[in-house]
Amino acid sequence: MRIILIGPPGAGKGTQAGALSERLGVPHISTGDLFRDHVARRTPLGQDAQHCLDTGELVPDHVTGGMVRERLQRPDARNGYLLDGFPRTVPQAKELSSILGATGTVLDAVLELSAPEEVVVARLLSRGRTDDTEEVVRNRQRVYRNQTAPLLAHYSDILVTVPAVGPVAEITARALDGLSATGRRAG
Ligand code: AMP
Repeated sequence: MRIILIGPPGAGKGTQAGALSERLGVPHISTGDLFRDHVARRTPLGQDAQHCLDTGELVPDHVTGGMVRERLQRPDARNGYLLDGFPRTVPQAKELSSILGATGTVLDAVLELSAPEEVVVARLLSRGRTDDTEEVVRNRQRVYRNQTAPLLAHYSDILVTVPAVGPVAEITARALDGLSATGRRAG
């Protein structure tokens, strides 16, 4: 299955993606993790991306798109993936359709983890990651609202929305139910 995961920062995308990738047998590909890895290894891409990660801004689309294109070409992604954190803008969604078109593949579902902004902000502030100062946390929510949330309408035909509040295992179960009920392919 080819699934993309969308939700505000703090909705638990990484946690759910880990559980779902195991259950569905596809790799979990997180652009946030790919960027953090580049930053840790001090690659040129990491050096370009660092400031954006520190402030909660998005890394420019051409940098992100190139990194994802390369990652999706690796053999482990041939039969499917769970893409976490990409696309985050309309141009990135176009880039993804071009990647899919080139390989003659389609997305099976877009999974939205939805949670009220006050809930995710409180979660992020209690997590204490170094890029999680209140200003950065609020900025990341604003970036989500303005640039990423509009993608939900773009994917309305394959959208599965799951409330991301409550115990982790319950959210995973809701997501698996929703995915198996989507139109394009039963999971
Ligand atoms: P995440 O772990 O998904 O919250 O991502 C952490 C940071 O990486 C974001 O705040 C952005 O700076 C950057 N990032 C991750 N995914 C993308 C993307 N698709 N486009 C641009 N920047 C991204």
